[in-house]
Amino acid sequence: MVDVVMADHCPNTSSCALFPLISKPGFLRVWQINYCEGDYARCERFKRSCGGSDVPATLLPNGEDLTANLPKK
Ligand code: SF4
Repeated sequence: MVDVVMADHCPNTSSCALFPLISKPGFLRVWQINYCEGDYARCERFKRSCGGSDVPATLLPNGEDLTANLPKK
């Protein structure tokens, strides 16, 4: 049996296009708290990158699109 040690933070933080956007104070930071610094194995971006799939820049960790979640003007 192999023990898998999970990092405290997502190992993709330096390469993820979304990470810098959700690092800023504001309503998007909740994504970083819940996924990048939390359970990143649930992140759709992380799962896709591990699987070798394309990761759209606007894909949110829950699999929805960022542009559909922006506040309406
Ligand atoms: S958004 Fe997902 S893939 Fe990107 S750094 Fe956060 S947990 Fe990792």
